[in-house]
Amino acid sequence: MTRYKQAEFEEDDSSSVGSVQLTEGVSATTTHIRYHTGTTLWKTRSLLEKCLLVLTAVLLLLVFLLGMLLSATGRGEPALQVLHVGPHTADEQYCLTVPCVTAAASMLSSLDMSVNPCDDFYQYACGGWVRSNPIPDGKSMWGTFGKLEQQNQLVVKNVLEKPFIELKSKAEEKAKMYYLSCMDSNETIEALGAKPMLNLLKKVGGWNISAVDGKPFNVSAWDLQNTIQILQNRYNMGGLFSWAVGEDDRNSSRHVIQIDQGGLTLPTRDNYLNKTANQKILAAYLDYMTKIGVLLGGEENSTRAQMAAVIAFETQIAEITSPPEDRRDEEKLYHLMPLSEVQQTAPFMSWQKYFQDAMSPTKRKVTGKEMVVVYAPEYLSKLSAIVTNYTHTTEGKIILNNYLVWQTVRSLTACLSKAFRDAYKGLRKALVGSEGGEEPWRYCVTDTNNVLGFAIGAMFVREVFHGNSKPMAEAMINEVRDAFKANLKNLTWMDNETRDAAESKADAITDMIGFPNYILNPDQLDDKYKDLDIRQYEYFENNLRVNQYNLRRNVEKLDQPVNKTRWGMTPPTVNAYYTPTKNQIVFPAGILQAPFYDIEHPLSLNFGGMGVVMGHELTHAFDDQGREYDQNGNLHQWWNNETIAKFKERTECVVDQYSDYEINNKHLNGRQTLGENIADNGGLKAAYHAYLKWASAHHEELPLPGLNLTHRQLFFLSFAQVWCSSSTDEATNLQIEKDPHSPARFRVIGPLSNLPEFSQEFSCPSGSKMNPKSKCEVW
Ligand SMILES: [Zn+2]
Repeated sequence: MTRYKQAEFEEDDSSSVGSVQLTEGVSATTTHIRYHTGTTLWKTRSLLEKCLLVLTAVLLLLVFLLGMLLSATGRGEPALQVLHVGPHTADEQYCLTVPCVTAAASMLSSLDMSVNPCDDFYQYACGGWVRSNPIPDGKSMWGTFGKLEQQNQLVVKNVLEKPFIELKSKAEEKAKMYYLSCMDSNETIEALGAKPMLNLLKKVGGWNISAVDGKPFNVSAWDLQNTIQILQNRYNMGGLFSWAVGEDDRNSSRHVIQIDQGGLTLPTRDNYLNKTANQKILAAYLDYMTKIGVLLGGEENSTRAQMAAVIAFETQIAEITSPPEDRRDEEKLYHLMPLSEVQQTAPFMSWQKYFQDAMSPTKRKVTGKEMVVVYAPEYLSKLSAIVTNYTHTTEGKIILNNYLVWQTVRSLTACLSKAFRDAYKGLRKALVGSEGGEEPWRYCVTDTNNVLGFAIGAMFVREVFHGNSKPMAEAMINEVRDAFKANLKNLTWMDNETRDAAESKADAITDMIGFPNYILNPDQLDDKYKDLDIRQYEYFENNLRVNQYNLRRNVEKLDQPVNKTRWGMTPPTVNAYYTPTKNQIVFPAGILQAPFYDIEHPLSLNFGGMGVVMGHELTHAFDDQGREYDQNGNLHQWWNNETIAKFKERTECVVDQYSDYEINNKHLNGRQTLGENIADNGGLKAAYHAYLKWASAHHEELPLPGLNLTHRQLFFLSFAQVWCSSSTDEATNLQIEKDPHSPARFRVIGPLSNLPEFSQEFSCPSGSKMNPKSKCEVW
C-alpha cells in the first residue's frame, strides 16, 4: 500500500511538502536498500577549495600507492599477516588503469589495518573512512550513499543552471522554473513572509490559533466533514488516517482504495508515549508549534496552550497506533470490505461522501458498495471514538480543527520565509542531533527532484548514464538470480513443491534498470507533467499545485489497470527497491555508479557493491513479508504449512541474532528489522556465489595495487565499504526505533558472520567474533 498522505520527518527535511512525490507508486511493503534519503553540505568550503582538497588527497594516495608498489617485494605488512595472503612478487602485474588505481586508493584509505578483520570487519573496512569523514555540519548521518547523492546533485545542478534554450522539453523547463522558484533569487519568499499561508488559512476556514484578516475563528460554523474534505481532498494534506489508490494485494492487476492508520507528526508513537525518554523532543515540538503559530499572528501564551492540546490529541492517536514490528504480516493486515462497513466501523464522518469528494477530479462515482482495503480496522474504530468525543464540546471542536489545520501548516512551512524554516531547527536537533541547513542549491535540487523527478531524470541520465551500463547490469541480475535459485536446492527445510514454486517466483521477478525510456522522449515526458502548472516566483503556490497534481494522478488510477512499468523512484536516486505486488526489482541510474558499480571496475568490486544490492532486492521476494506474495504479486498462501513453520523457526534465529546487537546502549529490534536482515543475508550469499561462478568461467582479474587482498577478499571489502558511515546518537536512536533496516555496522557484521565462505577467505578461526559457532541461515 502506498504511504500516500503520510508526511514524515526525513533525515533532511528536504522534500518540499510531505506528500506523495518521491514514493509515487511505491507500495509501503516496497522494500528499499536504505531508508534515509540524506543530502547536504560541505558548506564552509568554496568550490575551488574542495577541488584542491580532493586533488591533494588523490595525489597523496597515489604517492602512497606507488611507494607500496615499489616496496611490494619481500617486506610483508605486519597488520595484514592475519589475512594469510601469499606475498606478491615484484614481477606480478597489477591492474593499473585509472578506475583500478582510483578504486584501490579509495578502498585503502577507508581501511583501518590496525583492526583484525576477524574481530570486527566493519571497523577493519571502514575505520579509516569514519576517521577521515566527520559528519558535516548540519547533517545527522553521513556515508557512502550520501556522498554519491551529493555528486548526483551536482550533475543535476549544472543542467538546471543552463539557459532555458538548451533544455530538451517543456517538462525540463518546468523543472528549471520550479528550481528557480525554490532558489528565490529576487527574495520573493522573504518579501511575502506569512502571507501565502494566511491566504491558505482563509480558504480552509481558519483556525483558533491566529485570526485571519482580523476575524476570529468561528467554531459555530465549523463542520468536521467539510474541513477534512477541504484540507485532504482539495489540498492533499494529511491527518487522522492515511489513504491512497494502490494495487490490491490480493489481486495485483487492479487498483483499489486503501486506508491505513496515520496522523502523527513526530516520527514514532514512542515519541509521544514514552514521555520521560522523549522529554526533549516533546518540548522542542511544542516550541516549534508555538513559534509557527506566533509567526502566523497568534498570541504566544494562548498559542502554546492550544498547541499543547494538539499534542495531547496526537498522543491519543499514538496510543491507538500499532508499532511497525506488529504490522509485518500482510495477510493479517489486509481487510477487504465495502465502504459501508468502514462506515459502521468508524462512523465519525461519512466515508462515502469523503471519497466521492476525493474523486471529484475524475467524477468517478463512489457508493457504499465500493470495495476498499483497510489495513487497520481497529485503529479506525478507536479513532472514531476519540474524534466523536472531541466533537461533543466546543473546546474539543477547536482542538480538532487546530490539529487538522496544523497538519497542513507544518507540511508547508518549508515553503515560507527563513523565519518559518528556522523555527524547525530546534525540533530537528532534538530528533536527529543536528539543525540541518545545507547549501540552498542542494536543498532545491532535491526538492525539484521530488516534484519533477522524471524531468530531472532525463537531464541526469543524459549527462552520466552510459548506454552499456544497462545490459551489463541486466546480465549481473541474472547471475545473482541464478545463484539464488541454485542455493534453493541446498535448503533442506523446504518441501519440493514450495521449492519449485519459489524457483518459479525467482524466475518471474521482472527488473527495471536505470530509467524509464519514455523520459528521453520529450512528447511523452511533457504529457506526464502537462497538468502541472509551475511559475517562477510562486514557490508556495507551486507546492500547492504539485500536491493537487499528485492527488489527481493518484485517484485517476482507480479504474485503470496496473501499469507494471511505472517507476517508484526517480532516476538520480541512490537507492533500489522491490515491489511485492509487481514482483519487480528496480535500480535507478543514481545507484549504478562507483563505488557500487562501474563497468571499468574489477567484477569482484561490482558484485560486492551492486551485486549485493541486487541480491538484497531479489531476496525481499522471499523475506517474511515478500514470501506471502506469489509470483504474480498476489497475496495468498502458496507455501505448505509445514514449510511455513520451518521458515518461521529459521527467521526466529535472525530475530534473536539481531536483537542481541547493541549500539548506544540500545538493542536493535530484531522483529522490526527482520525483512531487511533476511534480505541482507540472502543478498550477500547470492551475490558472492554469483561472483564465484563468474570468476571460475573467466581469466583471473589482475590484483589491485597496494591492497594485498585476493579478489574474493575484495568482494567482501567492497560490500562492507558501501556501508561506511557515521551518524549522531540521536539519529542512531531514531533509526533503531523506526527504521526497518539495521544500523550500517550490523548490516555488515550480521550477514558476514553468518556466511562460512567469508570466514574461509579471511581465515577467521571458529569462535572468533566474525565466525561465531552458531549461525543463522534462511536463504
Ligand atoms: Zn531492503
